[in-house]
Amino acid sequence: MRSESLTVQEVGSEPEASSGRVKIHIRCRKCGEVFILRGVRDVRGHVETGFRRCLCDNDREFDIETLG
Ligand SMILES: [Zn+2]
Repeated sequence: MRSESLTVQEVGSEPEASSGRVKIHIRCRKCGEVFILRGVRDVRGHVETGFRRCLCDNDREFDIETLG
């Protein structure tokens, strides 16, 4: 479930203007690195960010918060 939420999306293609854009705050639980990304919320409330993994190679242990 969690890995699914980190699926890569195509970079460079703008999503529909009507879709919800949100800021995503991601904090690595291993090294504490923080990432602020722009995500897109789809109709199911699933947020797509394109984020894959941290600099420390952690790809599953994150605190993820939606900012807006
Ligand atoms: Zn990390």
